[in-house]
Amino acid sequence: MPDPIGTVDGMSAKPHLVWDWNGTLLDDLSLVVDATNAAFAECGGPRIDADHHRRRFRRPIADYYAEVLGRPVGAAEFAQLNRVFHDAYQAGLPCALTADADAALRAWPGSQSLLSMWFHDELMLAVAGHRLTEHFARIDGMRRPLDGAVDHKSPYLADHLAAMRLPGAEVVLIGDTVDDARAAASTGTGCVLYAGGFTDPGQLRATGYPVADSLVDAVALVLAGVTTPKAKLPRMGA
Ligand SMILES: [Mg+2]
Repeated sequence: MPDPIGTVDGMSAKPHLVWDWNGTLLDDLSLVVDATNAAFAECGGPRIDADHHRRRFRRPIADYYAEVLGRPVGAAEFAQLNRVFHDAYQAGLPCALTADADAALRAWPGSQSLLSMWFHDELMLAVAGHRLTEHFARIDGMRRPLDGAVDHKSPYLADHLAAMRLPGAEVVLIGDTVDDARAAASTGTGCVLYAGGFTDPGQLRATGYPVADSLVDAVALVLAGVTTPKAKLPRMGA
């Protein structure tokens, strides 16, 4: 069987893998749902469940909150709700990895890095706590407070790749949300989406990118070169 990832002049042509953290390597959906409910309880909002979160959550998070609450959420209120969310999330840690996260990281024969929208310092501690730091050539989380910062992954993925001097065409992102797909599309990277995370699988499939039921399956798709959308992505907002 020919090498599915190909070689050029004896050099590996494997792409670089960029992993998402929350909902992908980290199995934190139930913790996020609990923390979201703590935030909504703060302002008289409804209780949500995991299925609701998987179907309705989106970035920017302020827009998601406004949709659930049925009214606009101003910057000051969002900052307060975000603090409540963060405190509740922190109180629920530590959180387990996705069942096959370690196996998937070990299955990839090339370079890997980690890009998350979670706070950088806390991300570094969590990754070290799970003894995963050695897998990654670079780890980037959010270095600014979320309120006031750009709340979608595209610009952070561009910065992450620029820091490693990697063109998008040589990179594949594995993530669990439509925002991951948007970031991949905006930077010209490949993408495989994980169906066991924060997003309803039907929404993931609608992006056109390949969808895997496990992280090991996601890596297998990257090894097979299946990382591009089957159809052109619908036009998506910035
Ligand atoms: Mg995620």
